[in-house]
Amino acid sequence: MIRLVEWLSLRRGIDDLCRRGQVFSFVMRLMFTAICLSLFLQMLALPICRELGLLPFSAGQTIQLGVAMSWLLVGSVAAVIGPVLGREIRSLAIAKAKYEHLSRVDALSGLLNRRAFTEALDETEEGLLAILDLDRFKLINDSHGHGAGDVVIRAIADMLLETAGSQHVVARLGGEEFGIILHGKDHARQMELIETIRRQVAALPVYVEGKRIVTTTSVGVARIAPDRRREAVYAAADRALYQAKSMGRNCLMREEALSEVVRAQVAS
Ligand code: GH3
Ligand code: MG
Ligand code: MG
Repeated sequence: MIRLVEWLSLRRGIDDLCRRGQVFSFVMRLMFTAICLSLFLQMLALPICRELGLLPFSAGQTIQLGVAMSWLLVGSVAAVIGPVLGREIRSLAIAKAKYEHLSRVDALSGLLNRRAFTEALDETEEGLLAILDLDRFKLINDSHGHGAGDVVIRAIADMLLETAGSQHVVARLGGEEFGIILHGKDHARQMELIETIRRQVAALPVYVEGKRIVTTTSVGVARIAPDRRREAVYAAADRALYQAKSMGRNCLMREEALSEVVRAQVAS
């Protein structure tokens, strides 16, 4: 019974209507609901018409005629409109899915964008956040052109995705800045992976029109924990990144190490 009610319910997210089979089922339900509604309205109108003496047939004949007309008329109208409606609904659902995909993906690198990354960070309970900012990237643009800079960004994006693997989240946060969410509690292993990535960026030569371009990255890392607000995690990783830049770039700075650096600076 519950299944039947569920099947008849027309309340469906448009996301569910990308596949032909689902659209067909939706249109069938729409047709069935229209027929039932038509029958219901006729049953309501019947006693009134009888009272007013408007029925040329007996009550039994009128009901039979009503049922037949409902299936015939509403069914034929639905059979004509159904395929057109189904096609429109499906193309709308596909357009919506495409739009949603594009709104979460960075056009240049194909990685997730900042919006999708922030959502992923909100959903992460435990792990590390690493923010990577390519070093002296303006120099690459100035020396080789903006197009060459774009090629470097794409090459680094591909490498990050491959090295981080599917269990972690990689995004381009904007410009020459990338973010990685490393899931899990094994922070020592995650730090090793980030260090590997830092080294791989420095070792990745990108060739544009026969010219070899090499860049490096500075990395700031902060801890993601259930009791920690996401804004605080971002801010801590940003501070660590700033520190990595001021320590000469091409290095990795963890937020926990920040206080030691500040203490050392005060002492000197
Ligand atoms: P730092 O080591 O301090 O990070 O130096 P930087 O030169 O990397 O940093 P800065 O913020 O001064 O410059 C960032 C440069 O990144 C400037 C901007 O033109 C370039 N950039 C930002 N977005 C893009 C992009 O989509 N494509 C290209 N080619 N360059 C970009
Ligand atoms: Mg930057
Ligand atoms: Mg930079």
